[in-house]
Amino acid sequence: MVEVAKCPVCGGLVELANPWVGLEVECPECGEGLRVVSLQPPQLYYAVGFEEEPLPEE
Ligand SMILES: [Zn+2]
Repeated sequence: MVEVAKCPVCGGLVELANPWVGLEVECPECGEGLRVVSLQPPQLYYAVGFEEEPLPEE
C-alpha cells in the first residue's frame, strides 16, 4: 500500500510504500533525507539531526 506524506522541508508529497516508523526516505522534490516519525497519518521529519525521544533531564 502506497501512502503519501508531506515533506517538512519543501512541502512536496513523498510517496511511501509500506512505510514504518524509522524508515528513511529521500524527498524527490528537494532531496532532503527524511525519516518516518509516525503513521496514520504518515509524517516525515528530518533524518539528519533528528534525535528520538530525548530523555527528560532529571
Ligand atoms: Zn522536500
